[in-house]
Amino acid sequence: NYVALDKIPTWRHHHSRESDEEEENPVSLCDKVSLYKGDITILEVDAIVNAANSSLLGGGGVDGCIHRAAGHYLYEECHSLNGCETGKAKITCGYDLPAKYVIHTVGPIARGNVGMVQKADLASCYKSSLKLVKDYSLRSVAFPCISTGIYGFPNEPAADIALNTVRDWLEENRDKIDRIIFCVFLENDYGIYNRKMSDYFPPD
Ligand code: ADP
Repeated sequence: NYVALDKIPTWRHHHSRESDEEEENPVSLCDKVSLYKGDITILEVDAIVNAANSSLLGGGGVDGCIHRAAGHYLYEECHSLNGCETGKAKITCGYDLPAKYVIHTVGPIARGNVGMVQKADLASCYKSSLKLVKDYSLRSVAFPCISTGIYGFPNEPAADIALNTVRDWLEENRDKIDRIIFCVFLENDYGIYNRKMSDYFPPD
């Protein structure tokens, strides 16, 4: 019950499958991104991103799901990393996951307090993770909605930061990657991303 990358439609093909080949713009970024709703731990991609905490030793939410699915060796490797600062990222193997790697990033704690620092830190999570993607020559990566669960970052501005940061990175690095998947878990986030994605990744 793993989901292979080629089973996940790109944003261009998300709504309609009858798009006209002739009119497809070969450099359009809508061919490089996907919106997927469900459990990130079943995605067969080069890397999944974990919304970790600074200890990197596991927690609730998506972090707990990833550690449960990857098995104890993930905990062992994380234990050797000496934690991670907010906005930074560290990479491990995927162990029992279908993903080859896990990129652990630590989002800002934003409960009731979203200022410039929290916004910059959240953008930094996406940038730091994408830097590791490039450094390791990975071709596909899936992001959860970092900081929007236990860490309380409001969903709508978090989606704008995620989409904007990924779009900016793709404009510079489009040849370096095949797909970036926004893996949402909640219906609310699905609605937000579904509404915003065409603004950031217009299917010309
Ligand atoms: P944070 O502490 O950074 O807020 P959480 O794990 O609490 O991280 O929440 C981040 C997002 O991950 C939330 O939208 C949550 O619903 C989602 N989430 C929880 N479990 C999974 C999963 N198995 N796959 C993908 N996303 C998940």
